[in-house]
Amino acid sequence: MKNAAGDGRPALLGASVQDLESLAEALGEPRYRGRQLFTAIFNRRIADFAEMTDIPAGLRQTLATACELDRPHATTIVASVDGTRKYRFETPDGVAFESVYIPEVAKERHTHTLCVSSQSGCSLGCRFCFTASIKRYRNLTAAEIVGQVLAVQADVSRPEIDGKITNIVFMGMGEPLLNYDNVVRAAQLLTDPAGLDFSTRRVTISTAGIVPRIYDLGRDLTTQVAISLNASCDETRNRIMPINRKWPLSALIKALREYPLPRRRRFTIEYVMLGNVNDSLRDAEQLVRLLDGIPVKINLLPLNPHSRTEYEPPAPERVTAFQQALRGANLNAILRTPRGQDIAAACGQLGPAASPS
Ligand code: SF4
Repeated sequence: MKNAAGDGRPALLGASVQDLESLAEALGEPRYRGRQLFTAIFNRRIADFAEMTDIPAGLRQTLATACELDRPHATTIVASVDGTRKYRFETPDGVAFESVYIPEVAKERHTHTLCVSSQSGCSLGCRFCFTASIKRYRNLTAAEIVGQVLAVQADVSRPEIDGKITNIVFMGMGEPLLNYDNVVRAAQLLTDPAGLDFSTRRVTISTAGIVPRIYDLGRDLTTQVAISLNASCDETRNRIMPINRKWPLSALIKALREYPLPRRRRFTIEYVMLGNVNDSLRDAEQLVRLLDGIPVKINLLPLNPHSRTEYEPPAPERVTAFQQALRGANLNAILRTPRGQDIAAACGQLGPAASPS
């Protein structure tokens, strides 16, 4: 749980109860102080040691000197006309990443989703994604991932916004499963009932298909899983997602079939639709065959245009026909309305504000 600044101080936003109990012991305090600290940081969401009044003043002073409790620093916050808010964070070592708060994605359920980043930049090079054009600087620490949630929650809970994060998706910058240990630790902290207490149903880890890590994920977490699929045959997927050359669809689909999905859960399949590339009826029929027997919900995402892709959004009638073909085969296919397009916060657009000028 060392901090990213490299000064040797532990970053407590990435610390488990056990870590904090060991820390208390190392400081000559009873172990239960560790649990008190955990509750103060994650459950009561206190951002300053001085406000942890159930902890002795001397220990608070020691902690303030020896440990880091800083949340990521937002250098820019941009609000969309639709209420979406995009945060650009920058770390002391000059690394930038973004989070997007998306309120009311389903009005009747009052769902407010935070999309978090797991890396600054991304090395996978998906050809429709802006983040792919940014150099990958480094993995984010668990503290930086959890810190995104705490920082955004503090911002949106102000009375003039009156927001509350209910769901977290690891779909921001980066491939979560290439930063496996930090992502798993962050997910465990987010879902710890004694801490932030998000339901595992409300935390989704997305992957472009790092197949060996999908097996690991099934062993380590019970959060939701999303697959950024975007094609129904290897030929197309190789073209738009280079990772498919390493782990082709057969390996990816096998991993899904063997995944220990908890009862009444489904995978989320993300399908970015690219005009005349993966949006034909033939693609839809192949997709039906590919996913046969796997419990899924499919999100159809017409490409959000940006300057660094050669692809075009699909024609509306092709989107409708594609969706109908999936529904006709009894697949739950939902057409997602882009959110935050005016502030480049929509899916696949993250990075413009985070990339170095
Ligand atoms: S879509 Fe995801 S995995 Fe692919 S380049 Fe973009 S951030 Fe990386």
